This record gives sequence, structure tokens and C-alpha cells, in this order.
Amino acid sequence: NRAVVLAKRPNGEPQNDDFRIEEQPLVPLAEGEILVRTVWLSLDPYMRPRMNDMKSYAAPTPIGGTMTGEVVGEVMESRSTKYSVGDRITAYGGWQEYFIKPDDAPMMYKIQDMGIPLQAYLGAAGMTGRTAYFGLTEIGKPQQGDTLVVSAASGAVGGIVGQLGKMYGCKVIGIAGGSEKCQFVVDELGFDACVDYKAGNLEKDLQQACPNGIDIYFENVGGDVTRAVAKLLNSGARVPICGYVSNYNDTDLSKVQTPQDILATSPNPPTARFFVQTEWQDQHQQTTQKLAQWVKDGQLVYRESIVEGIEQSIPAFQGMLKGKNFGKQLVSISPE
Ligand code: NDP
Repeated sequence: NRAVVLAKRPNGEPQNDDFRIEEQPLVPLAEGEILVRTVWLSLDPYMRPRMNDMKSYAAPTPIGGTMTGEVVGEVMESRSTKYSVGDRITAYGGWQEYFIKPDDAPMMYKIQDMGIPLQAYLGAAGMTGRTAYFGLTEIGKPQQGDTLVVSAASGAVGGIVGQLGKMYGCKVIGIAGGSEKCQFVVDELGFDACVDYKAGNLEKDLQQACPNGIDIYFENVGGDVTRAVAKLLNSGARVPICGYVSNYNDTDLSKVQTPQDILATSPNPPTARFFVQTEWQDQHQQTTQKLAQWVKDGQLVYRESIVEGIEQSIPAFQGMLKGKNFGKQLVSISPE
């Protein structure tokens, strides 16, 4: 079994020697355990803060520990009555080719085959789709006619937020890096408009796209994007703070101006809350079913960036933190 482990803590952008690929032996299963072959690995921005030695809602990855990550896998061997050989599951298996889990591992779910691509259970019908859904509905509280602004709009979470926003009758404005991503956000994802924050006129362009101000801002990136949004918030605005990826490679995350800090300077400080999709674990399975049905019906569309083989997870991850991905970043680890 090959695994990517954290060799040392990165200082800024993760470098190749911050990771190490190790051959790890697979031990025999204990009672109640399953052996899983990783088929798809999901790469997500949250993995970067976990590489730091800092307290957050999740414990940091220890030095020498396997990089955390959610995967789609196939059960190869089972000493559990809950899982059979051949079952497809999603689980926090990590960046590795095989893994062993107890059958009661948290957030490990059997995939109900609905005829959609397996890897969708890591994206639109998986963790990032649920993040979009819970953040928007529980904190954003969308109303017909609201102006909803979504950053990292072409990405895994942002792309779904905007499409859900349209279902709720919002006017949806995306913010993304580059004209190709912006065109995709409007033409394929159906947003009403998309502002290219790299074009150099973010404040003006955003103001033009939001003549009635902003009622909901779905926060994915932080920094200058949030500064521009903060000026345009309407009274009573809601901001689900999902993440702030633009700061994740900063050398000291504890010193950055967080989205909360920036939003507090708004002429209309919003109701803003940082959330984690695990807050709604009791609704995970039903929400996955709902999202999977929308994917099947073509109501939710998405784009993927796919690389192949465990070695490629490292450059793909480094690139994703700089926006080189275009849509959900995935690694194909072994054939379906
Ligand atoms: P994406 O698929 O959106 O990929 C990351 C994107 O971030 C890049 O494509 C890039 O888009 C954008 N980005 C990178 N650097 C910058 C920068 N300096 N300034 C502005 N944008 C930048 O990733 P996800 O959809 O998986 O994640 C989006 C956010 O959601 C992250 O903040 C993540 O931490 C958060 N998240 C939170 C969860 C929760 O439970 N709270 C769960 C899952 C994700 P572009 O080229 O357009 O700039």
C-alpha cells in the first residue's frame, strides 16, 4: 500500500519535500473491520490548514501521518456484518491506495447506486455538495429575489451554491479567477453574471453586477474579495463563512485578517458565521440522496479536474491552492 504522509510542516506554499510517499504494510483485519481499495481521492483546500500545527475544529495531521482525505472506495475484504465485499463507500480513507476501517467509523457511508458517476459522491453529491447546501440554506437563508454573491464560483462548493441559489429564486453573481472560469459559471452553471477578480476592477465590476446591493455572500476565499463584498452588503445580509482559501498558504494563519474581521468593517455588518458541514451529520444521508437525484436529473452540473495515480495528488493539491484546478479536484487512484 502506498500512502502520502506529511514529512514536515510547510512554511507557506507546500513544497514537494513537505510530503513523502511511503510503502506501508497491510495488516490482517480484526473483527468488525473492512479493507478498502481507494478508487477516487478528493483533494480539498481544508487539507492545507490541517498541515499546520494549529488548533481548529479538526486536529492537525501529525508529522509522519497519512494526509487526510475523503475517498470513494470498494470493500475488498470484510470481517463486518454491515459491509460486504464489492460494496462502494465514501470514507475518510486518506491519501493512500488501501485502508482499513472499523465498520462504525464516523462519516463512512455506503453508496446507494443511483446511476451517477461514482466520484460525484465526493463532489456535487458528496462533501462539497452538502457544504454548499447546508451553508446556503441554514445560514444564507435564501429568499426569492435576494442577490447572492458566491466566491470561488467555478469550484466544487461555489458552483453548487450558485445553482441552488437559482433554485431558490435568487439573483446569483459569481466571483472567479479568469475569463474562462467566468464564462463557464454563466454559460454552464447558469449564474446571472460572474466577475473576474483578476481583471483588476473588482470593486467597480462587482458594484455594477449588484445594483441592488448584496443580501447573501457565500464566503469561500477571504482577503480582497471579501473587502470588496463588505462595502456592498445590504442591511440584514447573511454570510455563511465556508472557508478563506486565499489565506491558507500564509505563513501564519493566526495573524491574517479573517472574513469576520473584514465583514465587521462593513457599513452594514452582516450576520456571519463560520460553519462546518459536519454540524449537520444527522442529515448527511438524506441530503446526499437529494443532491444525487438533482445530479441525475441534470439540475446540478459541475466540472472536474482529474489527475491519475497517488504521486499526482501532490502537484494537484499544490495547484489547487493557487486556482489551477477548474472544478472539483480529484485523483483517480485505481480503476472502478
Ligand atoms: P475549489 O474547487 O473552489 O478550489 C479552490 C479555488 O479557490 C480555486 O479554484 C480558486 O478559484 C480559488 N482560489 C485559490 N486561491 C485563491 C485566491 N488567492 N484568491 C481567490 N480565490 C482563490 O475548492 P472547494 O470548493 O473545495 O472549496 C472552496 C472553499 O470551501 C474553501 O475555502 C474550503 O476550505 C471551503 N470548504 C469548507 C467546508 C466546510 O465544511 N466549512 C467544506 C468544504 C470546503 P479561482 O481560480 O476562481 O480563484
